[in-house]
Amino acid sequence: VLELVLEVPETLKILVGQYMILVLQDFDGEFTRSYSVARYDGKNIVFLIKLKDIGRAGRALKKYREGDIVKIQGIHGNFVLQDTTNPKVFIATGTGLSPIYRMICQTQFGKELFFSVQKKEDVFYAKELQDTHITTHIFLTREEKIPEDTDHIMYRSGRMNLTEYEFSPETEFYICGAPSMVEDVKKHLGERGFKNIYFEKFTA
Ligand SMILES: Cc1cc2nc3c(=O)[nH]c(=O)nc-3n(C[C@H](O)[C@H](O)[C@H](O)COP(=O)(O)OP(=O)(O)OC[C@H]3O[C@@H](n4cnc5c(N)ncnc54)[C@H](O)[C@@H]3O)c2cc1C
Repeated sequence: VLELVLEVPETLKILVGQYMILVLQDFDGEFTRSYSVARYDGKNIVFLIKLKDIGRAGRALKKYREGDIVKIQGIHGNFVLQDTTNPKVFIATGTGLSPIYRMICQTQFGKELFFSVQKKEDVFYAKELQDTHITTHIFLTREEKIPEDTDHIMYRSGRMNLTEYEFSPETEFYICGAPSMVEDVKKHLGERGFKNIYFEKFTA
């Protein structure tokens, strides 16, 4: 997972949870891909991007160097943090953590994170998450040896599974990442009667 930092010339209004369309360049010309904003301080925007060798953006981004210019096509999305005092539960797979990390940093109370990756080595932003003091459950889907729990971080094996966790009825759920996980979790939460469900699917 790469941290891509873009310095923007003017202050942009990017709601917490939104994504941007970047215009990337390779030998075949320009093309666009969507990336969620993980951090924004009014000057620098940080994206968390999973570089896949077989993906076009993955290959193109490896060729970018410090100082290169990236065009932005726009700021989009209605997966945004609600301005309420309801408890908030965040659920992410892989780089679905990106918009959710920004949400976590903006949330004061009642927050908990469920995060899923394949292996221990795929976990990123562990230190950053620890610094937010959020209670974090990490599901490792393809790891045989599950690591010891650390401060605020508990490891589980297998796919994302919320059945054994209790949440109050007014809880807001923010789900982001692989479309299949988003669908599964939405269905599960819907069956349990939860109403405040917000989601973003990282469709390719
Ligand atoms: C709203 C939104 C927000 C997003 N935010 C993020 C984010 O914050 N971080 C992030 O990392 N991604 C994010 N994505 C996903 C991102 O936009 C791209 O889809 C992703 O980076 C893959 O782009 P790519 O060009 O590398 O892959 P593509 O070339 O578009 O390929 C798409 C998929 O097909 C696979 N594939 C390609 N060619 C082959 C082949 N020959 N054989 C088998 N498989 C192949 C690739 O591995 C990839 O999984 C977001 C998507 C959406 C819709």
